[in-house]
Amino acid sequence: MPEGNEIHRWAERHEAAFAGKAVRVDGPQGRFVDSDVIDGKKLNRVLAVGKHLGYDFGKDRILHVHLGLRGDFSEGSGPLPALKGALRLRMWNEAAVKRPVAPGESKRHAWYSEDDGTGHTEAPKLAWMELRGPTDCTIWTQAKWETLLKRLGPDPLNGDGPEKAIAKIVKSKKAIGALLMDQSVIAGLGNIYRAELLYRARLNPYVAGKDVPEATLRMIWKEALPLMKAGMVDRRIVTTLPKDRPSGKGKPVKEETHYVYRRNGQECFVCGTKILRKEMEGRNLFWCPVCQPDAKTS
Ligand SMILES: [Zn+2]
Repeated sequence: MPEGNEIHRWAERHEAAFAGKAVRVDGPQGRFVDSDVIDGKKLNRVLAVGKHLGYDFGKDRILHVHLGLRGDFSEGSGPLPALKGALRLRMWNEAAVKRPVAPGESKRHAWYSEDDGTGHTEAPKLAWMELRGPTDCTIWTQAKWETLLKRLGPDPLNGDGPEKAIAKIVKSKKAIGALLMDQSVIAGLGNIYRAELLYRARLNPYVAGKDVPEATLRMIWKEALPLMKAGMVDRRIVTTLPKDRPSGKGKPVKEETHYVYRRNGQECFVCGTKILRKEMEGRNLFWCPVCQPDAKTS
């Protein structure tokens, strides 16, 4: 599931590409039937909070997108490409799709640019984007968006402070591993950052929120911000410190970008113990039993 870093990144890109002018929107396969409400209207800005995107077309015309586990965008320059796959929605700039495409210019790419030979397109040069597989893509009223904001915890990437999150955690008997994933506690954190922030804090995921020192919670928040910001640049989340990587300094190799996330059965970079995996509230949790000892045995 995309975490807050990706959501904010999409908001920035789509705002740079489409905001401030009238844009075209459709759901060419009948999977988005409300395009009439916003098609041809000016997009004011693109909002991001936690894992939610809001394309603001004016009062009570907010296109809400939640990517869920499988949703993703593709984008490109030049004319709209042929329909492909289960397409929910397209958004495009009428003038830009008529612009001739320079040789070698990207036509369609998804964001894992490392896997895709077409290279990077600067956001202002994007002519269109496509959305596939989201959990939600519907028009929201202003009131509905504001209800969402009230329900969500603070979002580090929106400049929010940690106070509200800390106040909830220190009162809770729930495991810190579950609390960090709870969007009403912190908005935008997902499975990768949950696992990696706990490791960096050397904190066992099963410790109850009320037993975590406040100083540790402040440290986790402080670390989350630069790590999430760095993850906005190219969707690549790197949480390991150079000194802990077997290959040492320089750009980390793919296998060394995380301490514990999806490294179950492999050796911990720091202590050599095998990383564990267990399901917590339906999502896989990863941790090192030595670096993050159980609360009872530490
Ligand atoms: Zn370890």
